[in-house]
Amino acid sequence: MEKNSCDYKKHKILVVEDEEDILRLLVFNLEKEGYKVVSSSNGAEALGIAIDTPPDLVILDIMLPEIDGLEVCRRLRSNALTVNVPILMLSARKEEFDKVLGLELGADDYMEKPFSVRELVARVRAMLRRQEQSRQPAAELSVDEQILKAGPIIIYPERHRVTVNGETRNLTHKEFLLLELLMSNPGRVLTRELLLDKVWGYEVEVDTRTVDVHIRYLRQKIESDPANPNFIETVRGVGYRFRDH
Ligand code: CA
Repeated sequence: MEKNSCDYKKHKILVVEDEEDILRLLVFNLEKEGYKVVSSSNGAEALGIAIDTPPDLVILDIMLPEIDGLEVCRRLRSNALTVNVPILMLSARKEEFDKVLGLELGADDYMEKPFSVRELVARVRAMLRRQEQSRQPAAELSVDEQILKAGPIIIYPERHRVTVNGETRNLTHKEFLLLELLMSNPGRVLTRELLLDKVWGYEVEVDTRTVDVHIRYLRQKIESDPANPNFIETVRGVGYRFRDH
């Protein structure tokens, strides 16, 4: 694969939205940006499309006919073909509940309606850029790939892969970045603000609560007892520390 092949390849974005006006607006603006856009107005159909031909990014409304966006998100995250596809959730509802639940289910970002199309396009661009940076073609893997290891946990940064006791754990992109940051700084307290800046830097709307939600989810994936974490310690009122065993 050529190094700069992404310059020539059009990213494919799946937009799932049942409100026709919003769908049209999104498709128009994303195509104008040069993306290839596939759209669907119902959750069940969108799941089929995403699994048959995995897109590079999904924009997912929460209120959808047949299968709602939260369930679509959950299923995309539990399928190996779509586990790492960035998901931007949209919702008309203001409840914090949706936001937290969406992020817990593995969405990478969240926007409330009404949203600014310019901001949405900027976020899409940033999400795709991050995804490109984290993706390494298999052919480029070398035997001396730098790994990060702590007890049973191993991170293969180039492969964007995490194993615990030799078993692969499916982490979302954000969870991966969080774990990588923590494990690269063993014994050091990383503040919520720092984690937020490093992992979500480009997003203005997320707050430090988001960090806590992702840490909780990350612990469920890598700790044997998430309620009594052995690796990711909470430093009350400050942030988190990866315990150097
Ligand atoms: Ca809707």
